[in-house]
Amino acid sequence: MDSPYDWSTNYRHPTAWDQEFAPLSLPDMLAASVARRGDAPMLDFLGRRFGYAEVASGAARVARGLQQRGIGKGSRVGLFLPNVPHYVAAYYGALAAGATVVNFSPLYTVAELEAQVEDSGTDILFTISAAALLPTALAVLDGSSLRHLVVGSVAGGLPAAKSMLYRLFKRKETAPLPDDPRITRFSALVANDGRPDPVAIDPATDIALIQYTGGTTGTPKGAKLTHQNLTANARQVNAIDPDHDADDRILGVLPFFHVFANTCVLNRTVLNGGTITMLPRFDAKQALEAITRTKTTALPGVPTMYQALLDHPDLAKTDFSSLRVCISGGAPMPAELREKFVAATGASLVEGYGLTESSGVVATNPYDGPVKPGTIGQPLPATYLRLVDKEDPMRAAPAGEPGELVVKGPQIMQGYWNRPDADKDSFTEDGWLRTGDVATIDADGYVRIVDRLKDMIAVGGFKVYPSVIEAHLHEHPAVKEAIVLGVPDAYRGEVPKAFVTLEDGFSATGEELAAWLNRQLGKHERVSAVEVRLNLPKTMIGKLDRKALRAEAEG
Ligand code: AMP
Repeated sequence: MDSPYDWSTNYRHPTAWDQEFAPLSLPDMLAASVARRGDAPMLDFLGRRFGYAEVASGAARVARGLQQRGIGKGSRVGLFLPNVPHYVAAYYGALAAGATVVNFSPLYTVAELEAQVEDSGTDILFTISAAALLPTALAVLDGSSLRHLVVGSVAGGLPAAKSMLYRLFKRKETAPLPDDPRITRFSALVANDGRPDPVAIDPATDIALIQYTGGTTGTPKGAKLTHQNLTANARQVNAIDPDHDADDRILGVLPFFHVFANTCVLNRTVLNGGTITMLPRFDAKQALEAITRTKTTALPGVPTMYQALLDHPDLAKTDFSSLRVCISGGAPMPAELREKFVAATGASLVEGYGLTESSGVVATNPYDGPVKPGTIGQPLPATYLRLVDKEDPMRAAPAGEPGELVVKGPQIMQGYWNRPDADKDSFTEDGWLRTGDVATIDADGYVRIVDRLKDMIAVGGFKVYPSVIEAHLHEHPAVKEAIVLGVPDAYRGEVPKAFVTLEDGFSATGEELAAWLNRQLGKHERVSAVEVRLNLPKTMIGKLDRKALRAEAEG
């Protein structure tokens, strides 16, 4: 390998970089923690605790119930659920039955859910009787090749859950369940002896999860992640966190259907035997209350969540003394936000980076070493990074210049579900995953994401990176959130335009901000305008949603 950024030179993670991860399936990972931590709490759902043995027994009964209905190896089990205990039992249960799990966002419309149910060939779908979900699932049952629906009730013994789901989805609590042989109640599915037929799982080749890409650009594609991809990524993240232990209490506010939560909240906690405090969806007030109540030790989140916690009036009365680490990922963490959050809470905050195609995590700032704000840190153990020429990915990027980040490691997907065309574009000929992100790597091996290839703006032939302009905007005290898009221009093809929201208590006009911003930018980077908005669109996981904003701006 001829790249100056070749992994074999100086870009190894200093801590146990070379370790190998033995093949491990997700059901075996759960079983090992049950053996060590059977009585310990695995889930805390609004104060109701579920122990490891209890969750494992629920999962075994889901597995048996699925097998009784003909689901096993080669079947796809869809989860259309918010963060509720059913999610965890259905996830581990489907995997123990030998099936592949397909995650769906609980905010999908009928059309979105139907498209992915069809694309993935989902056989059976889990949901709950909340009015925000059940009618959508029923419409998909009638309109697609889906054969079966399993419907859980969150009401059972947990009135708090009902009212919380109501508040979070802003919809009437439950929807009526029609009498239909294709529909089974969750309670009926698990009414069995909990002894599924044993299934041989090959961790290296069996697909545990079809995980659709976020879809902030392009049509969502299903990344095929094996058992080994997922258990390796959980172990890789663990390996660089020297203080993790079985008494960790993780706040589970990221939606479980997203790969970041799947690895950093669910699988990683199960690996260690710790406890997840799950909230059905992110809500700043509930999250702050849970941090004090459960003495949270670790909080994985996206930047907009940290912003929402910081802005909430209850921040001052929250006890952060137990919180040892916050892990930010999914989108760039503005340096000013990081500083303010750390100052207000006293917690450490490390930024990491990854993508659906990498089971969640590729790189992170060290937990026990120097953090470099504005970078995504160094590669995880056993993870190889290179920078390549984006036009010709078989060539290394010129030394010192940004290039497309490509990755190899045990966490990298097996390709896309039924999309050999997309596989060709997503891997280099020699098998490196193309991230579509443009990066630089410094002399200490810290990676800086400069931008996404797809987001680059071509201004009269010059490439302009929106994230560079967004970073300048964040330096202005009045600016809270910022997205920069390319908009059509008669002379230069495209020019950048900024959309911002303002911090409470600040006022500034778009003209003032544009004048201030353009004084700091190079000629081609200058924005045509800054539009001040009350809100910017966000995805379900809380990332600023460039694609939705572009559709709005064009529409
Ligand atoms: P998804 O697969 O939907 O999770 O999106 C993955 C993409 O999110 C990556 O390819 C990056 O463009 C972006 N991303 C994730 N983490 C970071 C980060 N820390 N800084 C900048 N971009 C990030």
